[in-house]
Amino acid sequence: MSTHAQIGVTGLAVMGRNLARNFARNGYTVAVHNRTASKTRELVEEFGGEGEFVPAETAKEFVEALERPRRLVIMVKAGEPTDAVIEEFAPLLEPGDMIIDGGNAHFADTRRRERELREQGIHFVGTGISGGEEGALHGPSIMPGGSVESYDSLGPMLEKISAKADDGAPCVTHVGPDGAGHFVKMVHNGIEYADMQLIGEAYQLLRDVAGYSPAEIADIFRTWNRGRLDSYLIEITAEVLSHVDAETGEPFVDVVVDQAEQKGTGRWTVQIALDLGVPVSAIAEAVFARSVSGHAGLREASRHLAGPSPRTLGKEEAAAFADKVEQALYASKIVSYTQGFHQIAAGSEEYDWDIDLGKVASIWRGGCIIRAAFLDRITQAYEAQPDLPSLLADQGFADEIAAAQDDWRSVIATAVTQGVPTPAFAATLAYYDSLRAPRLPAALTQGQRDYFGAHTYHRTDRDGTFHTLWGGDR
Ligand code: NAP
Repeated sequence: MSTHAQIGVTGLAVMGRNLARNFARNGYTVAVHNRTASKTRELVEEFGGEGEFVPAETAKEFVEALERPRRLVIMVKAGEPTDAVIEEFAPLLEPGDMIIDGGNAHFADTRRRERELREQGIHFVGTGISGGEEGALHGPSIMPGGSVESYDSLGPMLEKISAKADDGAPCVTHVGPDGAGHFVKMVHNGIEYADMQLIGEAYQLLRDVAGYSPAEIADIFRTWNRGRLDSYLIEITAEVLSHVDAETGEPFVDVVVDQAEQKGTGRWTVQIALDLGVPVSAIAEAVFARSVSGHAGLREASRHLAGPSPRTLGKEEAAAFADKVEQALYASKIVSYTQGFHQIAAGSEEYDWDIDLGKVASIWRGGCIIRAAFLDRITQAYEAQPDLPSLLADQGFADEIAAAQDDWRSVIATAVTQGVPTPAFAATLAYYDSLRAPRLPAALTQGQRDYFGAHTYHRTDRDGTFHTLWGGDR
């Protein structure tokens, strides 16, 4: 067995296979391995002409095929399978070798694995990879964590296979130590949930209040995609909305069951945000909205509940309303990203990762699902002020929200009065208004807590911790 492969990929389902092909197409010799060996043979038979592959049937053959220090990419099902694969390979490796986990691992698992493998001198590089199977093949956005030393060795290869932004910059950076890469990938997915929900709410308003057909809404999204909302998700939304079901001739969106599924990264984002005490209400509402949609029985049993039905607007009013929805969507998007970046900053602080937030925005400009022109603005905001406390503290974003807010408020008011559910629109506006409010009812909350639990409170007029001796029997 020759030992010249510069990189190895184990786990050859859709993602691993395409990632291996991407490395090979970029001139690297790639050792390939899969638990079920037939998949390895299939890959080489089907795509062997694309570059140099070294198929390996056993773990030992696979490891022996790699040049040192070894670079071994794991692309298997996240969770226990990843631990099983690490257990199989780690004893065959030597100090200085690198295991790159490109699966959707929970960052806490990545931290544990990194710690354990570090004791053996092995670099464990938890790596977020976004872009689905097409991205894996043609260039994903790559978010590696792990040691700086491992990035020195891996970085140039990852830069070669990654997506490139419009300015040619590779969509990869060393995000930070241990679990930083998987943490950032998790928040990326959380933001993706929020983006999708906000777009969904915009669609519902254009459908129910403006009275547009899916095809007309597709055209509106295409127009928006030429402006500041230019993004992959808006682009594919237009495609989905203009798609007609071949069997029935109905709009595709009308023949799909309206129950959204989820794999878990949105839920993780919210769970971790709760642990960190970061308000990511747009992501939370997006996760809950999918959850509500899935409760078919509850929805069926609730159809009779009282409430208004949307009134459809006239043609001219509808066009004006659509413009307002664009303003609302943009303002909500700014707030949603503000919350997501707050979570990354909080994670970075908690785990000492020293994450460059502007750089994170810049590597999301290509390859990944939330790629958007808008991300350039976020990079610019953090470059201008690296210690920006919040994206809303950036004057440019603050000005844009100021300009959009009348329409933003009016769209949400319309949704509320006409009974169209817009949980993410409403949550982002409530967050914005909470930040602006000179006083919040939190003072009353503190009073209640002190009343029933002697939890104490602070005063506005002097330092110290106070408790009031409340009267009455309790
Ligand atoms: P997958 O369906 O998540 O996993 C299938 C692969 O895992 C197969 O190669 C399978 O081997 C292997 N596997 C499962 N259990 C194993 C075990 N106990 N020991 C050894 N191998 C085991 O594949 P995928 O969709 O290509 O995703 C791979 C990883 O990338 C996942 O962690 C996923 O979350 C992540 N990811 C996926 C996407 C996407 O769009 N699909 C995007 C980003 C990241 P056998 O062939 O032998 O069963």
